[in-house]
Amino acid sequence: MAFDRFGRNIHYLRISLTDRCNLRCVYCMPEMMIFRPPAELLQDDELLLLARLFTGLGFDKFRLTGGEPTVRAHIVSLVGEMARLPGLESLSMTTNGLRLEQLAGPLRQAGLQRVNVSLDTLDAGRFKEVTRWGSLERVWRGILAAEQAGLAPVKINAVVVRGYNDGDVAGLARLTYEHPWQVRFIEMMPFAGATELQKSQVVTAAEIIERLSREVDIPQPLRNGELDGEARLYQLPGAAGELGFISPVTAPFCASCTRARLTADGKLRLCLLKEKEVDLLTPLRRGAGLDDLRQLVLDGVWHKPWGHDLARGSVPLNRVMSEIGG
Ligand code: SAM
Ligand code: SF4
Repeated sequence: MAFDRFGRNIHYLRISLTDRCNLRCVYCMPEMMIFRPPAELLQDDELLLLARLFTGLGFDKFRLTGGEPTVRAHIVSLVGEMARLPGLESLSMTTNGLRLEQLAGPLRQAGLQRVNVSLDTLDAGRFKEVTRWGSLERVWRGILAAEQAGLAPVKINAVVVRGYNDGDVAGLARLTYEHPWQVRFIEMMPFAGATELQKSQVVTAAEIIERLSREVDIPQPLRNGELDGEARLYQLPGAAGELGFISPVTAPFCASCTRARLTADGKLRLCLLKEKEVDLLTPLRRGAGLDDLRQLVLDGVWHKPWGHDLARGSVPLNRVMSEIGG
């Protein structure tokens, strides 16, 4: 088991399978994003070796992310290999949904359990504006395919950006009347180059709840308002699904954080919003043994930062969101 200095048991690994993406969401990466050369990224055998090492250290929950995880070559067989790792209890993916129509069934069969699909608006024009060139219709078909394949409960991730999609929260929340989905509103987080945009355009969870109360109905807190993972859950009266509010900016959940991240270039990142990382790929390529790699992970986890410092204006500058995995 891996513990940090504060007694937190770190057992949830978010694995970025690639830094590449078939979209360019405005809050995530610049339009002219330059990706890393493939040789600098974890190859399949390296990724699987590290995945096995992490499960051996008690990590029982993996979420595959990116960039866009579904654009990685051999994604279905990689998922199949991971699903078979002893000790892994939960295997899920965060995706933009563009390739789910084709991949949901094969991924489910390979052992993927659930997906979170990013969808910020139900307006096709605005969707294109936010993602720069995505097709809402294709994502919608992907969501339905995921549900049909049994990748359930489907969760929808909406990052709310003032001036882009803050007017869409009511429509997104209303989806839960008909669908047993969890629609999650995420406060935009500031990163590197896009920092100024992101600071000025954060829409807080409180503001969204107030808006829903006016435009739809008053969301009722579930589980006594306790955190479920990183989300506070609510439900619209009579709805089939739930609402989730993820508020890293206005209500950080650092005290209960159990996660670490493996970047596509093989760095262990201990906090999404802190630059500290431990390089695993270089030692692996230089022939480090499994015991040495395990020790690097355990030491890294031990020194996991307590939490982020957004409240004091400190933002990570070394990577944008797509390079870490969200
Ligand atoms: N491409 C996949 C997708 O979009 O779902 C997975 C990677 S993406 C980086 C993971 C999640 O991070 C998505 O739900 C996305 O909306 C969210 N995200 C990206 N940039 C963000 C930011 N600046 N603040 C908060 N969430 C962000
Ligand atoms: Fe791509 Fe996901 Fe970032 Fe959008 S949020 S640019 S889909 S990695």
